[in-house]
Amino acid sequence: MSHIHELMQKAVEFHGHSCPGLALGVRVASEVLKLLGPHASDEQLVCVTETDMCAVDGIQALCGCTFGKGNLIHRDYGKMAFSFWRRSDGKALRILARPAMESDPVVSRLKQKQQTVGLNKDEALLLDEKRQERINGILENPLEEVLLFESLSSPPPSPTRSMPSLVCERCQESTMESRTRRFMGQVLCIPCFEKLDAR
Ligand SMILES: [Zn+2]
Ligand SMILES: [Zn+2]
Repeated sequence: MSHIHELMQKAVEFHGHSCPGLALGVRVASEVLKLLGPHASDEQLVCVTETDMCAVDGIQALCGCTFGKGNLIHRDYGKMAFSFWRRSDGKALRILARPAMESDPVVSRLKQKQQTVGLNKDEALLLDEKRQERINGILENPLEEVLLFESLSSPPPSPTRSMPSLVCERCQESTMESRTRRFMGQVLCIPCFEKLDAR
């Protein structure tokens, strides 16, 4: 099995299924590992992801960037784009999926039918085939057909530090201070603050 398919297999174990989105994340991760090296120590590599869809699991599974460690940051821009910084020397880049890799009209039509009236056996097979084709294309097509690379000069986002917690005066739950709201002299957590707001 080729290296990229080995990486895909590892990511599928983490993600739970194989899909084109994950394949894109794997292709990105494989380039990042080549360009910025394997993450020597855990927080060496920082990633800002502009999507929270399947693709980001390829990054989490292969690059050592995870939400829990604080070196994976989500900016909810809805773009298939990932920025990476190597802390040791500041080397950084942004990788973007080429639009052509994002949609296939036949697949969209079949998916829509699957969700409404359902697919017959042939259509289901075709969809499966198309999906596998797409996965292979994302993993194997020439790099310039799949991804765009941009250099980055901005510094990496600052590392997350452990923050003091406050107790919400309504639900009494301990809440990271930076996430609390103040209302009429009370310290509130976000859900309690939003409940007030909804009334
Ligand atoms: Zn998926
Ligand atoms: Zn509360």
